[in-house]
Amino acid sequence: MARKGKVVIDRELCKGCLLCIRACPMKVLEKEESPNSTGSYPSKVVHLDKCIACGNCWEVCPDFCISIYDLEAAS
Ligand code: SF4
Ligand code: SF4
Repeated sequence: MARKGKVVIDRELCKGCLLCIRACPMKVLEKEESPNSTGSYPSKVVHLDKCIACGNCWEVCPDFCISIYDLEAAS
């Protein structure tokens, strides 16, 4: 069975560099259409059901905006 993950992005910390979107092998993330309070267009989670908790997005984020929960490890 594939690993299941939950990814959470702090949209106010995100500067919209899009590195996490490019790094995700499962196309879980997309760019938001509205800006945060700093004027950046942050990443958002659009296909949470596809997340496999690989950690790629977390690894490339320069600003520590991403938290990942491995739902299998937690159960
Ligand atoms: S943990 Fe992996 S699969 Fe889940 S959103 Fe991040 S890069 Fe994509
Ligand atoms: S890598 Fe981090 S700062 Fe860049 S878009 Fe993703 S969450 Fe935002």
